Amino acid sequence: MIERAGHAIRQGELVIFPTETVYGIGAAAHNPSAVAKLYAAKNRPQFNPLIVHCASEDAAFSLVKITKLAQQLADAFWPGPMSIVLTSIKNSPICSLARAGLDSVALRVPANPVCQELLLCAGTPVVAPSANPSGRLSPTDVAHIDIELIAKCAEIIDAGKCKAGIESTIIDARNKIPVILRPGPITNSQIEDHLGTKCVYASSVPTHTSIAPIAPGQLASHYAPIAPLRMNASRKQDGEIFIGFNTPYADFHLTKTGNLEEAAAHLFDVLHLADKQNPLAIAVAPIPNIGVGEAINERLKRAAAPRN
Ligand code: AMP
Ligand code: MG
Repeated sequence: MIERAGHAIRQGELVIFPTETVYGIGAAAHNPSAVAKLYAAKNRPQFNPLIVHCASEDAAFSLVKITKLAQQLADAFWPGPMSIVLTSIKNSPICSLARAGLDSVALRVPANPVCQELLLCAGTPVVAPSANPSGRLSPTDVAHIDIELIAKCAEIIDAGKCKAGIESTIIDARNKIPVILRPGPITNSQIEDHLGTKCVYASSVPTHTSIAPIAPGQLASHYAPIAPLRMNASRKQDGEIFIGFNTPYADFHLTKTGNLEEAAAHLFDVLHLADKQNPLAIAVAPIPNIGVGEAINERLKRAAAPRN
């Protein structure tokens, strides 16, 4: 069963599996189509970056620039219900959609033995948010899981109830001070006792300081290319690069068939490619505001918002 699930992940399919926190819905972190499928299955309303689950600390740290703080945290709390945010290496195998286009990545090495075995069988890092439609309660038992969500997955592994029952503690470990992005099963006092340093909460860090965390989804202008961006463009104007969606002519195509998941999978790559050409502006064809199209439009709105 676990081997089959690992194979399905390698094939770009979705799999539901237990972790010590909650049941996760997983996809291969290097595969943008699989990751787009995951966003669509959960109806995640925006491109919130996903947590990348790895079989070992070595596998996780091969993806990032390690800090002393991260090493200390990993020594103490991995494998376990802790995710740490670090700066990604250049040319990371983790696709940019999984990272929501950020230059950072959240990593976790889970302790649940079934999850560990699955990660080994999959042979690739696995992105895995909670196995619930976005905005609903997280499942800690297979019986909690939405039937429609299960139908979108190739395999589901039932290993009884999850131990921790709440999502992992997320810590920004890029600097010297641990910044708690999300409280979870590993408590502040556990962290402070181990490190001998006070934690700070992301919400209490002034944004102009050097340890200000990136808070995905918080800023009006975000994920913005250098060039100004124009949405709902019916055609290209002088000096613009035109990004098409199911349009016969375009400089770059999000999709030629109107497939929203494909468009989502291509979005950040296409915006990067367009921006590299130093256009006067980037014009993007209308994207249907349904399914993962809502997420694409939400990103595009932030990219088009006035810059500070
Ligand atoms: P979940 O929604 O439980 O899948 O957890 C994902 C959350 O982890 C996101 O909503 C972010 O708050 C956080 N996260 C993931 N990647 C990053 C990152 N690169 N930088 C900051 N926070 C991140
Ligand atoms: Mg969740």
